Amino acid sequence: MSIQMADLRAQHREIDEEIQAAVDGVFERCQFILGENVVALEHEIARLCGAKYGVAVASGTDAITIALVAVGVGPGDEVVTTPFTFVATTESVVIAGARPVYADIDPETFNIDPTAIHRAVTPKTRAILPVHLYGQCANTEAIMAIAAERGVPVVFDGAQAIGAVRNGRKIGEIGDAVTLSFFPTKNLGGCGDGGMILTNDEAIAAAAKSLRFHGMSESYTYGRVGFCSRLDELQAAILRVKLSKLDIWNERRRRNAALYNEALSGGPVHSPVEDPGNHHIYHQYTVRTPNRETVRAALKDAGVGSAVYYPAPLHVQEAYAFLGYKEGDFPEAERASREVLSIPVHPQISDDQVKRVAEALAGAKKIV
Ligand SMILES: *Cc1c(COP(=O)(O)O)cnc(C)c1O
Repeated sequence: MSIQMADLRAQHREIDEEIQAAVDGVFERCQFILGENVVALEHEIARLCGAKYGVAVASGTDAITIALVAVGVGPGDEVVTTPFTFVATTESVVIAGARPVYADIDPETFNIDPTAIHRAVTPKTRAILPVHLYGQCANTEAIMAIAAERGVPVVFDGAQAIGAVRNGRKIGEIGDAVTLSFFPTKNLGGCGDGGMILTNDEAIAAAAKSLRFHGMSESYTYGRVGFCSRLDELQAAILRVKLSKLDIWNERRRRNAALYNEALSGGPVHSPVEDPGNHHIYHQYTVRTPNRETVRAALKDAGVGSAVYYPAPLHVQEAYAFLGYKEGDFPEAERASREVLSIPVHPQISDDQVKRVAEALAGAKKIV
């Protein structure tokens, strides 16, 4: 049997009865938009992540866009961010009307490099948008210090990092806002799209709530141009069931990662680095190797799925050519794009399967 990057059927089998009951409950009430499950989920996730407020929206991409607008980003502004992430991070900046300005990454953690942020900040910088990539926090202390010095807000894209902790602080405790995604394959994934903005700032929370509902201030009164972006009540009901499993699932990911670290040491690939102080929740277990295609082929022969996140950095994508960057501008992001390979680490794989993947990787050593 093959070992895939995600196994949502196996995940569903663990909780199918509870999900069915939750869905039935929503149909009994028929309050499909912003009902009681959305409100409860906002509180539960805010608490889990150490934030005061949660504002649920229709996707992780919308969460970033709305958070940026809520902290004051608009046309003419620059937002300093990473070129090595899912496209949504950059796309949100452009949708908010601003211009992404890239800072290169740290080659060990793949997260944005604070010294590069320093160089990228200009008088037009209106926010910093780092990503907690693959499930571990960026260097938040250094980033928050730069932000304080320059007086700009920080929105963290935490789409891959629900449950991550850095130096004893949960992700919702750090930054002006943090955004989450409930895309089905994320550590907490719905049965459709969804996202959330977390913040400790009452004004940002209020702005986000207004923005997700067409910019409404009071009933049929609109103080600003907004979005139509709510989390469905059905998704919220389902996510609450899954939320009760999140700690166990994240622990299983960490355990799988520990097994890989042990099995792969001294092997042909470079294991991921967990930055000291970080509690990594391994949304992805991402190794690096200059012989990626050979390693991938060996895995494929052994019936093991793998994936490349991300095969090209954003500054060389056609859609963002207008930003004026070129190949060579961000060498670490470019090298990472050539060398990274993610292997199955999800909670539904068994110890035996982890061993099989590690053996297939060790076998690749003979070839490379
Ligand atoms: C998944 C993801 C998003 C976007 O989330 P959607 O819910 O798919 O809109 C944004 N940023 C990162 C880093 C992601 O991994």
